[in-house]
Amino acid sequence: MYTIEEIQLDVTSHCNAKCPWIHDSLIQMDCWGNVWPCCHIAETVTRNKFPNIDKSITRINSLYKQSLDSIMADSWFTKTLPESLDSNPWDICQKRCGIV
Ligand code: SF4
Repeated sequence: MYTIEEIQLDVTSHCNAKCPWIHDSLIQMDCWGNVWPCCHIAETVTRNKFPNIDKSITRINSLYKQSLDSIMADSWFTKTLPESLDSNPWDICQKRCGIV
């Protein structure tokens, strides 16, 4: 079981603070038990609006398959997303959050 503070620590310790949601210690969990870095990424992946995002998150983000700690420690959250934000932001991050 997690408290809000524990989840916030997990998020901020694993991810790049350039993302405004991560900076504010936020993540999204949808009603199907999937964990996302934000609602924009969730919508993008599920509706395929901005195809240049790395959609391999769907292999690791289900709380039915692994714990929140494991999801947040996965390389998608610790490497793929931060590297995208630092070097080549996905279209959705540019359009919704002004990341350049
Ligand atoms: S769209 Fe990108 S930069 Fe914006 S909150 Fe989501 S992951 Fe972070």
